[in-house]
Amino acid sequence: MQKILNYINGEYIEPLSMSWLDNYNPSNGEAYSLIADSNSDDVEKAYQAAKEAFPKWSNTTIEERSRILIKIADLIEDNLESLAKAEAKDNGKPLSLALAVDIPRGSANFRFFGNAITQFASEAHESVGLNTINYTLRQPIGVVGCISPWNLPLYLFTWKIAPAIAAGNTVVAKPSEITPMTAFLLGEICTEAGLPKGVLNIVHGTGPSAGQAIVAHPGIKAISFTGGTKTGEHIARAAAPMFKKLSLELGGKNPNIIFADCNYEDMLKETLRSSYANQGQICLCGSRIYVEKSIYGKFKNDFVSEVKKLKVGNPFDEDTNLGALVSKPHLEKVESYIQLAEKEGGKILCGGKRVTVKGLENGYYLEPTVIEVYDNNCRVNQEEIFGPVVTIMPFEKEEEALEMANSVKYGLSATLWTNDLNRTMRISKGLESGIVWVNTWLKRDLRTPFGGMKASGVGREGGFEALKFFTEQKNVCIKY
Ligand code: NAD
Repeated sequence: MQKILNYINGEYIEPLSMSWLDNYNPSNGEAYSLIADSNSDDVEKAYQAAKEAFPKWSNTTIEERSRILIKIADLIEDNLESLAKAEAKDNGKPLSLALAVDIPRGSANFRFFGNAITQFASEAHESVGLNTINYTLRQPIGVVGCISPWNLPLYLFTWKIAPAIAAGNTVVAKPSEITPMTAFLLGEICTEAGLPKGVLNIVHGTGPSAGQAIVAHPGIKAISFTGGTKTGEHIARAAAPMFKKLSLELGGKNPNIIFADCNYEDMLKETLRSSYANQGQICLCGSRIYVEKSIYGKFKNDFVSEVKKLKVGNPFDEDTNLGALVSKPHLEKVESYIQLAEKEGGKILCGGKRVTVKGLENGYYLEPTVIEVYDNNCRVNQEEIFGPVVTIMPFEKEEEALEMANSVKYGLSATLWTNDLNRTMRISKGLESGIVWVNTWLKRDLRTPFGGMKASGVGREGGFEALKFFTEQKNVCIKY
């Protein structure tokens, strides 16, 4: 069976632990490769390589760093097809999505930060009357840790690595043990692009073993983490006594607020996408749909009828809208929320069952599900499900919609559908979320700040925010 090896000091190597994990294909439930089950010795090896590479890389010219990052972007693009196939097989997502979104975005992340670093500057302050000038250095931190989740594997892995190395750091990175394949393939691409040995080190394995070793390593001075809120809490606790810099992108339970004056057809089409793209496993999916009462009945009928048309199928079939969920435990977790919804008095309007038609019976397929709920405080409306499950509920007044939207512990993103400009501005201001989309969803400009409030995280990624995170500021004051 193929082995997913660690990529340390520019070479693929077996884990010192000599231990392996099975890697499953979610579309048929078969283990199809072995993942290095790394431990703290492997992380130490990766750290030593990164430490050794740091002095040279941090003094490599901006132009050279930029050139290498853009070369990596080009090579990801050249390998679009094979990377997309690997992503679809590893994650269960439709190949069409990996081709259109995941892999192009992986490339765009390197291209964007390869360019952004050439425009990154620091400040100077002349203290008039004191005969001093202050200038601020923005120096790379050193060896940094990047830990990413399984839902958008290459996309989120590169979203961290690209700014980290662009800013002159060296990296110990760990992708999710549930979807390690494209991160594994990235090693080869980095070597081909001429990234010096040790600048990027990729260690595979579980959170409690390899992940924990990265977080606990005293030499790794900053951690950029994307994943669940519980894991984020744990990382914050472990990192705090060492005063590590932390960027935490965590869970969400995003509201989708629909007013009667919206462009109905656009809203319906986009709401379908924001509910079920990537099987609902995008941290930005809108999983709580609140609809103004006057159009609630119409929306309910139209939405359910559109959801019923979605095709759950093999990720490699062209007409597949939803592929498989990422793993058996995750499928079971999502199903448990559907059962809970019924116990809590919710009504399943469509979906709710596994798809077991011939050819799919061994994979982790679930019908896209719409649940009508009657109490915004029910657990199904408060807790992150992270699957193809949305709830719908009517509201009468704007204030009521805003209150329900803000009622959860999370605050990642929100979507608003209305053509009333004043209302747009009022609600956008009132929403407790880091990102607000109005009359659209998931349109991204990589220069904008990205991140969540409340239990959805700490800090912002994207644009210069990410380059600021991965650098330490130092003020130098000179008297003349
Ligand atoms: P997870 O927290 O289980 O795992 C994320 C990563 O952390 C994995 O690489 C895992 O191995 C590692 N990890 C686990 N325990 C660790 C530990 N003790 N120390 C160090 N590392 C550890 O999350 P997941 O299930 O892979 O991903 C789904 C979650 O990610 C959802 O909650 C989703 O909302 C969130 N997410 C957030 C964003 C965002 O930008 N805010 C984006 C995507 C996903």
